[in-house]
Amino acid sequence: MAELPDKRTQFIDWYLAVVEEAGLSDKRYGVKGMNVWTPYGFRARRNLDSVMVREIEATGSQAVEFPALIPETEFAKEKEHIQGFDSEVYWVTKGGSSPLDVNLVLRPTSETAMYPVFALWVRSHQDLPLNVYQIVNTFRYETKTTRPFLRVREIHFFEEHTCQVDEAAATARVASNLAAFARMAEAFALPFLAVRRPDWDKFAGAYYSIALDIPLGGGRTLQIGSVHHYRENFSGPYGIRYEAVDGSSRLVQQTTFGLSERLLGAILAVHGDRKGAVFPRAVAPFEVVVIPVPSSSAGDLPQRTAGEVAERLARHGLRVHLDAGPERPGAKYYHWELLGVPLRLEVGAREAAARTVTAVTRLGLKSSLPMDGLEEQVVAALAGFDRALAERALAEFRSAFALATSLDELRDSAVVRQLGWCGREECGHRIEEAVDGGLLGVPEGKPPVEAPLPGTCIVCGRTDGVRWALAGRPL
Ligand code: ZN
Repeated sequence: MAELPDKRTQFIDWYLAVVEEAGLSDKRYGVKGMNVWTPYGFRARRNLDSVMVREIEATGSQAVEFPALIPETEFAKEKEHIQGFDSEVYWVTKGGSSPLDVNLVLRPTSETAMYPVFALWVRSHQDLPLNVYQIVNTFRYETKTTRPFLRVREIHFFEEHTCQVDEAAATARVASNLAAFARMAEAFALPFLAVRRPDWDKFAGAYYSIALDIPLGGGRTLQIGSVHHYRENFSGPYGIRYEAVDGSSRLVQQTTFGLSERLLGAILAVHGDRKGAVFPRAVAPFEVVVIPVPSSSAGDLPQRTAGEVAERLARHGLRVHLDAGPERPGAKYYHWELLGVPLRLEVGAREAAARTVTAVTRLGLKSSLPMDGLEEQVVAALAGFDRALAERALAEFRSAFALATSLDELRDSAVVRQLGWCGREECGHRIEEAVDGGLLGVPEGKPPVEAPLPGTCIVCGRTDGVRWALAGRPL
């Protein structure tokens, strides 16, 4: 097998090679941007979803599922929203050979599917908050070059939609979503930025949008999700009203929280290395692979012991794979490293005789584990692997940012730049021009480079209202 391209200098080539070689997706389907999830890729996706479900349900959200087709009449009710999606939607216009009375939109996102129904569900303040989510596929007619998990036309999508009594409750829901995402990101060992997008770059119909961005090195960033505050921008047109305690009729305040399969792309992009994919334990299709190392003198003892090891770990609830195939052990090591399995256990004649196994993490840490209490030892080794992976990712995250004090520093920058910005749109566009990318926005909480507040705007030199902002090149 050919060596992978260099991740640092040929990022996209490296990424595509890892997805391909690790067999995570089959891109040969007959429609561009619609990938086939393979058994191995699907396992990763299901694990990813289960972390999302666990964390969002811990905040009181309930699963629902709405139809994929939305009547044009409902879709058109929120003007800004439909303009934002105009060029991206797929239309269903015929049933058999007859034109439909009302054309249908294949959901690009589900506000306009859900909100007419929310207007029926929400009656009184006792119905609030309404916090529901769904994990479904959405469709967007992407015209740029598609890439597996990063830019696709059929998107595996998590979306939470909520109705709240007032603006303060909606703002609190935004904070709760950001905290839930922080817990998900911890499980994925994925350092991230929460950035309030500038007004010209917010979600269509939102009051404000907080994007979740991952730096990918080389000044590039990847938006993997977002949290939006809608105020009454949708509840007005859709008539989502409730009777307040004082008997008055009020519009609800709404929020949404969206994450996509880009999260899987980010995990591959951030953790992968020259040997291939690296999965954190929570996402790994298999947490452990067990490989017997045959020897002519030991008969089938290594195979039998490996089988025993795999069975014990599976009974302990671990996702384990026994690779008993005919390939040489070295070829198997290479294969499972490429596929990103966190922990490999080798069982040879020496180990079998001594009642031990040799454990090697995907980051190369080797140790000998006793068969007595093996389950606990393996769990501890996996936890150690996750910690090491998080440390490596955090070190890379920190090195992905630097301050900039002049527009010149933004040109051809190999890092995401943190700079002073006055908040004016004209200065924002000058920054975007210089960086040949985007003004990502203003970080929520602490900026990635710890520094006292900036004195002046990098463009106009004004001192009033200046705050830290980030500029980079979104993928
Ligand atoms: Zn300015």
